[in-house]
Amino acid sequence: MKRLTTFILILFVSVGLYAQKKKLSKNKKALIASVEKHKKELIRISDEIWRLAETAFEETNSAEILASYAEKQGFKVERGVAEMPTAFVATYGSGSPVISVLGEFDALPGISQKAQPTKSPLVEGGAGHGCGHNLFGAGSLGAAIAIKELIEAGKIKGTVKFFGTPSEEKFFGKIWMVNAGLWDDVDVNISWHPSANTESDVQSSLALVDFKVEFFGQAAHAAGDPWNGRSASDALELYASGINYYREHVRPSVRMHYHIQDGGQVVNVVPDYSRIWVRVRDSKRSGMLPVYERVKEMAKGAAILANVDYKVSLISGIYEVLVNREGGKIMQQNLELLGPIEYTDEEIAFGKKIQEVTNKPQIGMDADIKPLEKTKENPGGGSTDVGDVSWNVPNINLRVTSAPKDTPWHSWAVVACGGMSIGHKGMIYSSKAMSMTMLDLFENPKLVEKIKAEYKERKGKEVYKAIIPDGPPPIPNRKK
Ligand SMILES: [Zn+2]
Repeated sequence: MKRLTTFILILFVSVGLYAQKKKLSKNKKALIASVEKHKKELIRISDEIWRLAETAFEETNSAEILASYAEKQGFKVERGVAEMPTAFVATYGSGSPVISVLGEFDALPGISQKAQPTKSPLVEGGAGHGCGHNLFGAGSLGAAIAIKELIEAGKIKGTVKFFGTPSEEKFFGKIWMVNAGLWDDVDVNISWHPSANTESDVQSSLALVDFKVEFFGQAAHAAGDPWNGRSASDALELYASGINYYREHVRPSVRMHYHIQDGGQVVNVVPDYSRIWVRVRDSKRSGMLPVYERVKEMAKGAAILANVDYKVSLISGIYEVLVNREGGKIMQQNLELLGPIEYTDEEIAFGKKIQEVTNKPQIGMDADIKPLEKTKENPGGGSTDVGDVSWNVPNINLRVTSAPKDTPWHSWAVVACGGMSIGHKGMIYSSKAMSMTMLDLFENPKLVEKIKAEYKERKGKEVYKAIIPDGPPPIPNRKK
């Protein structure tokens, strides 16, 4: 009996393996070969962007590295789109379908780190790729190039676009690109993000809005004649207290943060100016907007209490991601075809060291392909300007393991992994999984129709309206 069970088990496994091999079509094999062919160059590009670690809207060299490589591969590149010097679109092919992929490349200030598993900055006080956007940009470029090679070889017909999207970490560059109509002719968009796990991502993100509140008072000697002073920092403190009291009376899905940017200069002057950056989030834009209105209104109350003037200025705001499960299913199938990323003993040891240093269980890497998750009503977590893209074109999201399990994100630990083979493996995997998913869309128009139908249904009557102030994007030191 035992022998029979073993035999049946072997039979099942063999049939399973055979079926899996069979599913990898000629074109998919060609995509994988193409990514492997460009692997060295993609890693070089990612490492260069990693070393440069250029922050929001300052990513001049990082954007150029990606744009010029695309150009060298035969893409037509349009630079400086949507009034942003570091935004670009690389296009190859013609006609439909038009399938696009997003590439980010901005770093985060203050978290510079060497490619080693203990904290040690590469440049003291410098920026670092704590969200893995060096991998994000290069991985997406790899997918676009692999598809381009199939179009070039006459195996598929249509257009592939690679969007170079700047400033994801601050200001959210994609909003201005969406507003400029850059996705209007695109059928389906694909995106990925480095992560501590691998999944076809069918969870939304949080909608948010950023705004600045300034208070204007009257300076005076803090001891000599304080009765002549009206303190802008009193107003700021009262305002922050108001937000903190309000926390008790918002839904659990709401998040409110602030960053005090200016609270006065010295102790012996009643401050006549203060400034605070406020962020309000909720799992849905519809929930976020009334909270935003209320928190804006509080500035007036604080100003009355401190007898000062105030000004509220919108910075920008983003939508939550509109999930597409039909697209997610296709990505899931391709992840199952590829199987999990495999790691060397050195890589696992690197991961465990990071877990040890950051006080996490030392369990190493998690790259298992799990079943497609249910889409949660309130996903929690962060926000992304991919949300704005997803309300204008159906979007498929992927996460790929590029750091050990439980790694604190936006930290030196992610920077460390992004500059060595753990990050590189995640990036190369993303190129393969995304190009395979794109191929399915090129080869099967019915899938595109299904994805579009779901998009239409989920979007419903919502008319997209970018949350941005009037005028051009906030490029620092813009040449007039
Ligand atoms: Zn990110």
